[in-house]
Amino acid sequence: LERSFIAVKPDGVERGLVGEIVRRFETRGFKILALQLVHPSEELLREHYADLAGKAFFPKLLAYMQSGPVAAFVIQGKGAVKIGRAMLGATNPQESAPGTIRADFALDIGKNVCHGSDSVEAAEKEIALWFGENLKS
Ligand code: ATP
Repeated sequence: LERSFIAVKPDGVERGLVGEIVRRFETRGFKILALQLVHPSEELLREHYADLAGKAFFPKLLAYMQSGPVAAFVIQGKGAVKIGRAMLGATNPQESAPGTIRADFALDIGKNVCHGSDSVEAAEKEIALWFGENLKS
């Protein structure tokens, strides 16, 4: 069964949105396989965002992701990756469709509340990175 890695970023945790966001995935029908509050190390984040290392906003992104705990979780169900991304909405909340998590809870791309894996391969890598041996497929 398909799995995806979803995270509520530090701004979302700080604002008390973890329950609401997890609830949306549960009520959509996904199974929550794991859920943990994590203080990600710089090393973990450099690995997680390896494709963004050259971007001008990268240092800000690292600081943002280390500004508080991240609620990391794994959903399982048909279409977990694609539907997960659709439920989060466009990366830039200014462009997210109404009803998506980012449109409902954010305005700023630098504080966009959540993350979701963008492919099945990325999902498996991210699950291994954030949850280690606990959740190996
Ligand atoms: P995520 O990986 O968080 O689900 P994404 O895959 O939709 O997001 P990416 O382009 O991989 O988008 O960007 C990863 C994250 O980097 C974004 O979610 C956002 O937090 C941050 N980011 C992206 N572009 C910018 C930007 N122009 N300014 C500030 N932060 C940005």
